[in-house]
Amino acid sequence: MFCPKCRSEFKQGIDRCPDCGVMLVAALEPLEQYETGNFLTVYQTSNPGMMSIAKSLLENAGIYFATKGEAFEEIFKSGTVELQVLLEDAEPATELLKDLEEMPDFQQTD
Ligand SMILES: [Zn+2]
Repeated sequence: MFCPKCRSEFKQGIDRCPDCGVMLVAALEPLEQYETGNFLTVYQTSNPGMMSIAKSLLENAGIYFATKGEAFEEIFKSGTVELQVLLEDAEPATELLKDLEEMPDFQQTD
């Protein structure tokens, strides 16, 4: 049994999450933000320059990352590359990368 709110798993026989007070369900709906494995997309861009900046930010912070859509044929198809990090790194990674969107290069300001 699972809590739909905090997604904890409980033994059979428990019907309410002691933390959230909500009724448990037999199976959880998969979260849409979950990608393959435990990776979460924290940044996506069609600008290769911005992508390399994003990568080096994560590299400097020692955060492991993977890219999705970087294969040539995929770029051709969607034009967007996604940068993914492990779930536990999602928060610091998002924090690091949020500055990218404020960079002048990101938006046309003229
Ligand atoms: Zn709960």
